[in-house]
Amino acid sequence: MRKKIAAGNWKMNTTLDEGLKLASEVVHMAKDESLSETTIMMSVPYTHIESIKKTIGNATNVFIAAQNCHQELSGAYTGEISAAMLQNLGVDCVVLGHSERREYYKETYAELESKTQIVLKHQMTPIFCCGEKLATREENAHFDLVKEQLSSSLFELDAVEFAKVIIAYEPVWAIGTGVTASDEQAQEMHHFIRHTIAKNYSDSIAKQIPILYGGSVKPANAQTLFSCPDVDGGLIGGASMDAQGFIDIAKSF
Ligand code: PEP
Repeated sequence: MRKKIAAGNWKMNTTLDEGLKLASEVVHMAKDESLSETTIMMSVPYTHIESIKKTIGNATNVFIAAQNCHQELSGAYTGEISAAMLQNLGVDCVVLGHSERREYYKETYAELESKTQIVLKHQMTPIFCCGEKLATREENAHFDLVKEQLSSSLFELDAVEFAKVIIAYEPVWAIGTGVTASDEQAQEMHHFIRHTIAKNYSDSIAKQIPILYGGSVKPANAQTLFSCPDVDGGLIGGASMDAQGFIDIAKSF
């Protein structure tokens, strides 16, 4: 049985006060009995991590993620954050290769490979994002691109390490646009990703890796998306900024 995961990506939103209010509402609502088997995650700004960890306290179904980390261990990289710093704060997961970072900060396949490895070395779980732009889908090159994103940055991992990764398929044309992939489009790509993993590793690893869908997930569309056999949950941007909406999404499994 794969984990069911609702992961909120707060991006560069909320002051610490606003973030603490949102996190405490989420933690409170996550106590609902129906969510005891659901993994609820908040990917928050670095400045909020320590305080939100305290807010989460001993909740067993709520976890904290960072939105990036640097690929080097330490050094002269002004403004960056290291895996050791995140691990030391008790971060559980690190989102890597979000399309906004690939686009605005020109993150390369090689950098993402190093980031994935360093996150794993520090006992945190990478949430590795992949997904195509609209033009790529229109050229019918989306499967090739996603395969390239996975193989270029992940497939050098050995099976034991790879089995710890969470994948998020996020078609760029669906992020923050209000346009969601259809259930068929999501299932087709998630199935393809699982098949690609099976070919490179094994059926049993492919069956155990959670693959999240991201791109304009809302309470109104989460249920049908999450009922697709290869969709194990969502990476949720805009809709995670409202505690009730986010929890409604988490209750959609
Ligand atoms: C995201 O930021 O990863 C995302 C999927 O955003 P949204 O849900 O707003 O489309």
